[in-house]
Amino acid sequence: LVPRLRPFTSTIFAEMTALAVRTGAVNLGQGFPDTDGPAGMLDAARDALYGGANQYPPGPGRPELRQAIATHRSRYGTHYDPDTEILVTAGATEAIAASLLALTEQGDEVIVIEPYYDSYAAAVAMAGATRRVVSLTETSDGGRFALDVGAVRAAVTPRTRAILVNSPHNPTGTVFTRAELEALALVCVEHDLIAVTDEVYEHLVFDDAEHIPLATLPGMRERTVSISSAGKTFNCTGWKIGWVCSTPELVGAVKAAKQFLTFVSGGPLQPAVAYALDHELGWVEDLRKSLAGKRDRLAAGLTEAGFAVRPSAGTYFVCADVRPLGFTDAADLAFRLPEQVGVAAVPVHVFTDHPDDWRHMLRFAFCKRDEVLDEAVARLHTLT
Ligand code: PMP
Ligand code: GLN
Repeated sequence: LVPRLRPFTSTIFAEMTALAVRTGAVNLGQGFPDTDGPAGMLDAARDALYGGANQYPPGPGRPELRQAIATHRSRYGTHYDPDTEILVTAGATEAIAASLLALTEQGDEVIVIEPYYDSYAAAVAMAGATRRVVSLTETSDGGRFALDVGAVRAAVTPRTRAILVNSPHNPTGTVFTRAELEALALVCVEHDLIAVTDEVYEHLVFDDAEHIPLATLPGMRERTVSISSAGKTFNCTGWKIGWVCSTPELVGAVKAAKQFLTFVSGGPLQPAVAYALDHELGWVEDLRKSLAGKRDRLAAGLTEAGFAVRPSAGTYFVCADVRPLGFTDAADLAFRLPEQVGVAAVPVHVFTDHPDDWRHMLRFAFCKRDEVLDEAVARLHTLT
């Protein structure tokens, strides 16, 4: 293995899921739902599968899916031409990797906000670029993890080419505010940066939080590669249907990389996702409400079990401080928990370049049936 990829030999999700399976633990580690997506979408996939949609779809993605993505995106007030400004990818993961491969190279710096989704560091490394990490900071009242735009600005150098922005944010559940995004947009415009936005949790926001795509802010549409995917919106994380919306130039660049990574993928799943985007947003609204309830349920249970739970305004996740329980090292705890109490969670420090600042935090996924969450909480009570 080449040196630049040596830090990336395994993923925490694969490790923790394997450990959960081996020990029979309730798996609140890897974020995937334990119920299926809308029946209409599954029917559409079956129909496509038996209807002959089993050969290579067009390189940029099936036309009806690109049209559905354009329509979906126009909800935010940004309009993309399905023929030149939208590209279907193998999940958001490929979209992120292809964007970095296409737009950055050796000598370029990419600003990454930590804790960061694990594929970001690997994708920057595959592109041969260098990551510059800026930490989210917990507000003094513990209310949320905030974006320190001053720190982003300070991280910009003449070599900075791009910034990767994830909101709603995995793992903290932070949803960036309009004020944070506007300040960030100013930095991008001022320093001529490309923003690559990971919006896979765009629909999963709770209470009064609102998802605001960075590309909708002044000066940003022409410099933002907006990425999302079907996995989290329609409970189909294994389908790996993602997409990119941007200018013809930027989409063309990403396509140049993407076509030699996978060329195309998910032929019969593409029309099913198109169907879901066109017809199932009501189902998604129910999912959103249900997840808000699950967040509350798990947060209350974890609090009762002795964790200091941080607020989460979106995604599948809550973070919890393990120190009130007398532990100092959440990473060590995460590897003992499945065996000792039968619950798997993910240590947050693995998503950072500053592990000591985050070592007290565990991430729990709440995208599970209520009885599964209740069982996990009951087991965690045996910790005290
Ligand atoms: N970004 C974030 C923040 C995620 O949590 C995930 C996990 N699903 C992905 C990207 C990957 O998305 P996909 O499965 O569509 O590749
Ligand atoms: N996005 C999921 C999470 O954060 C996991 C995806 C994966 O296993 N790579 O838990």
